[in-house]
Amino acid sequence: MNIDDVVREAEQAGVELVAFLYVDYGGITRGKLTHVDHLKSRMIGGIGLTSAMLAMNMLDQLQPVPEMSAVGEVRLMPDPDSFRILPYQPKVAAMMCDQIDLSHRPWAACPRSFLKSIVQQAEEMGIEVMATYEDEFTLAVKKEDGTYVPIDDSLCFSTAGMAAGNPVILDIMAALKAQGIQPEQYYPELGHGQHELSISPADLLTAADNQIRFRETVKAAAKEHGMAASFAPKPFVDQAGNGGHIHFSLWDKQTKRNLFWNPDDPNHLSEAGYQFAAGLLEHLPGLVGLTCPSVNSYRRLQPGAWSSAYAAFGKDNREAAVRIASTFWGNEEKSMNLELKASDSSANPYLALGAIVAAGLDGIRRKLVPGDSVDIDPAKLTDEERGKLGIKRLPASLQEAVAQMEKDAFFAETMGELLFRSYKQVKLSEHAAFSEQAVEFELVHHFKKY
Ligand code: GLU
Ligand code: MG
Repeated sequence: MNIDDVVREAEQAGVELVAFLYVDYGGITRGKLTHVDHLKSRMIGGIGLTSAMLAMNMLDQLQPVPEMSAVGEVRLMPDPDSFRILPYQPKVAAMMCDQIDLSHRPWAACPRSFLKSIVQQAEEMGIEVMATYEDEFTLAVKKEDGTYVPIDDSLCFSTAGMAAGNPVILDIMAALKAQGIQPEQYYPELGHGQHELSISPADLLTAADNQIRFRETVKAAAKEHGMAASFAPKPFVDQAGNGGHIHFSLWDKQTKRNLFWNPDDPNHLSEAGYQFAAGLLEHLPGLVGLTCPSVNSYRRLQPGAWSSAYAAFGKDNREAAVRIASTFWGNEEKSMNLELKASDSSANPYLALGAIVAAGLDGIRRKLVPGDSVDIDPAKLTDEERGKLGIKRLPASLQEAVAQMEKDAFFAETMGELLFRSYKQVKLSEHAAFSEQAVEFELVHHFKKY
């Protein structure tokens, strides 16, 4: 779409306001809106944003990053192809934005521009990456005292859970389809009030945009039904966590073949697939600082929770961080993919997807080998056995994850100095802020914001 197409579509649909959105380091979707009468000029010139906003953590505490202070600004420049009329907010449409600096170049701290640079790297290797988030979320009702109670305590995959979720799930799916997102499978999950809805894969940038649309849509639909929806990684300490597993596959740009597919391999995974998995596993202790980036994430990332706690890989192994997913019968090549389970939906998806693919491509470039796949829960092995297999424990806190990002030079190099430094600072501030508080404070804040 070009600018004139967007303006025409907005006017014809009776849109009054158009939101220019971005996602910050805390994974919060934020933005500014323009009246439709100014849409054209704003699409050409952008909307001004103080550069300080990226130094804001998920409690709106501004961190002292010199480039992100009271002085200085960037422009929110919308991507016309991302224009969607919001099915859940009357007369409002939205577009995803890049943050462009005043010399008209992508700002070095902009997460969406970071992802675009990784897409570009893949393209230069002749590769198109397809991906999707597979989100779990909790449906609850807010009590007078500000805490949340799940809408049901039905059993995993049970028809009782389906009945409890039905009205809101139907609305979510209709709103997703109206935004060009195809739902795939739905089921009530293990946790009380927990539901999972998967959507079709898309190219990397669209997959990240879709994750934002998905989160917004689910939260809005729940509200319509008098509920609150949350993607918080661990909404209740005694219940299953909400994963935001990511599925991805690499495609040859020229031949359009799935580069992960090898029918002759016992796991049906190609050499490039093993190398990609090896890159992920090598960088995973730091990578979770971007894919599991909230304080609450580390309550979920524990052994025995099917969320993965070790940097291991295995075929259909639900305790391995990287799972070789078995293919769909009758659709084998197309459905060959890897799944990263050490991921949740408190993440900024531009940073998470960008870093995952950069790590995987690093594995391909360096021809890394992932070692043996494991067909056992890594927690059941002894330290010695894990050591022999090269299986590392993932960080147990956000602070540890940031330390791992610092230890692995890959992150500073891949993200660039400003993005790396400012991101770390914001994350450490979140760790510090929640360390001083009781667990209830953490649970409520993560429930509300994610
Ligand atoms: N709820 C689990 C998680 O936190 C995932 C369960 C599953 O679908 O395998 O990742
Ligand atoms: Mg699940």
